[in-house]
Amino acid sequence: AAGKKAATRKPSFLNFEDIGGQEQPKRELKEALEFLVERERIAKLGIRPLKGILLTGPPGTGKTLLAKAAAQHTQSAFVAASGSEFVEMYVGVGAGRIRDLFKEARQLAVKQKRESAIIFIDEIDAIGGKRDGGGQHREYDQTLNQLLTEMDGIQGDESVRVLLIAATNRKELLDSALLRPGRFDRHIQVDLPDKTGREHILNIHARNKPVDPEASLTKIAEETFGFSGAQLESVMNEGAIYAMRDQSELIRMPHLSQAIDKVMMGERMDRETTR
Ligand code: ATP
Repeated sequence: AAGKKAATRKPSFLNFEDIGGQEQPKRELKEALEFLVERERIAKLGIRPLKGILLTGPPGTGKTLLAKAAAQHTQSAFVAASGSEFVEMYVGVGAGRIRDLFKEARQLAVKQKRESAIIFIDEIDAIGGKRDGGGQHREYDQTLNQLLTEMDGIQGDESVRVLLIAATNRKELLDSALLRPGRFDRHIQVDLPDKTGREHILNIHARNKPVDPEASLTKIAEETFGFSGAQLESVMNEGAIYAMRDQSELIRMPHLSQAIDKVMMGERMDRETTR
């Protein structure tokens, strides 16, 4: 899901306040990040450093946003990649790319004078899928092994502390080696937003838009059960497009209602074409 979409993702600086709903994941993530910030106390107590956090949940719910906010919150350098970038036909290429990613993260932190670096890997299941043991996926194994090696090599006392945040829609597909203690120790579930969350997300994406004061985003939130954050962002964007077609300076309620239908219809078409 990342690839093409990545180019359209706007700010690289992002705060937890810019993420609507998701109160529980935000709380759990901030709590886990204490391990990165409070490194001295952690070391004194002999607690092993936190190396990996796994975000799981359906697409478009804000996992990438959470990872970016985590970097901002901890003043860390931030590098991102998608698991599919590491899937290669040629032996060793994927593994080399993993090595480079960790190197790049450490170098960027030094350059930006940060004490920590956060590496975000979206679609981790593309590299960290279950190994079949049949020896057919040797290249894929090397990539996964390299990732495990890099994670095991993370030390609590380095001048740059590294934290890996990974996301997947399909946790059940992950190789158990990734889920062992000392690797992805923390799992945070990021679900579809509830009504309050949806309203919060709509308000965030209405910030830079002329929404008619008479329009009710509360009502829009009620009518968008099952929508992800990404779909709610589309509703606001499509609503603005309908307003433009209507030669209206304000985004009015009917524009937003039409936008809901459009986004819902788009989803249905996507499902039918992929079937
Ligand atoms: P994927 O698994 O498809 O990569 P994701 O969970 O990483 O999805 P994001 O990339 O974080 O999803 O979200 C995509 C876009 O949807 C964001 O750039 C943002 O515009 C919007 N969005 C998603 N969730 C939220 C949210 N909780 N608050 C505000 N905007 C959101």
